[in-house]
Amino acid sequence: MIASIQGSGLTGQRARDRLIERLRAEGIGDERVLTAMRQVPRHLFIDEGLSSRAYEDTALPIGNSQTISQPWVVARMTQALLEPVHPALPPPRRVLEIGTGSGYQAAVLSLLVEQVYTIERIDELLRGARKRFRQLGLKNITTRHADGRVGWPEHAPFDAIIVTAAGADVEVELLAQLHPDGVLVAPVGPPAAQVLQRWRNTEQGWAAQDLDAVSFVPLLPGVV
Ligand code: SAH
Repeated sequence: MIASIQGSGLTGQRARDRLIERLRAEGIGDERVLTAMRQVPRHLFIDEGLSSRAYEDTALPIGNSQTISQPWVVARMTQALLEPVHPALPPPRRVLEIGTGSGYQAAVLSLLVEQVYTIERIDELLRGARKRFRQLGLKNITTRHADGRVGWPEHAPFDAIIVTAAGADVEVELLAQLHPDGVLVAPVGPPAAQVLQRWRNTEQGWAAQDLDAVSFVPLLPGVV
């Protein structure tokens, strides 16, 4: 459940609906993802001065040199995260996110899974995200101010892990905190050549499938 926040005009339900139709036309087929994104008011996750652009399919600045991801990328990652590794498996219940940023991706996930754990290294951004979770009545998101590259061992194993900043590779520590039937989705590679990867367990061990070319801010060490 999400508290209903009325926008109007460029921030209203009609603007959100148009974005959803665009995502559908661009290949997002998972109705659960589209329904969740229809409900989350993205304009509340960015600066008021930019809210007229909230339902454009574009990444936008959120301060501290960081960005809220493009809606298509959020949809693509969420869809890849929900897709089970065997058809008989239930959807993920407990999900870890690295890179809370504005909190938008975590809010979308919170409507789809039981519990979201999310880690952010920049305290100022995390404070903003927490405020939005409260405002929207999202109670199943647990946050932490830390370097997320080492995951959150106290709450492991996770059914799924989503990394929303790009590293040179996927940290083995994160894969170690994933349930054997789990999925990890992360952008990997240098700024000009990032690819979205979906990791899962195979008979040969953890293996990645390349999904799409993407452009994320870098995964950085330490906290601010
Ligand atoms: N999921 C976010 C996207 C934020 S951009 C959203 O929906 O808005 C990526 C975020 O990852 C930034 O806020 C950045 O500060 C954070 N980040 C980068 N390296 C990190 C690390 N090692 N641990 C935790 N967060 C990190």
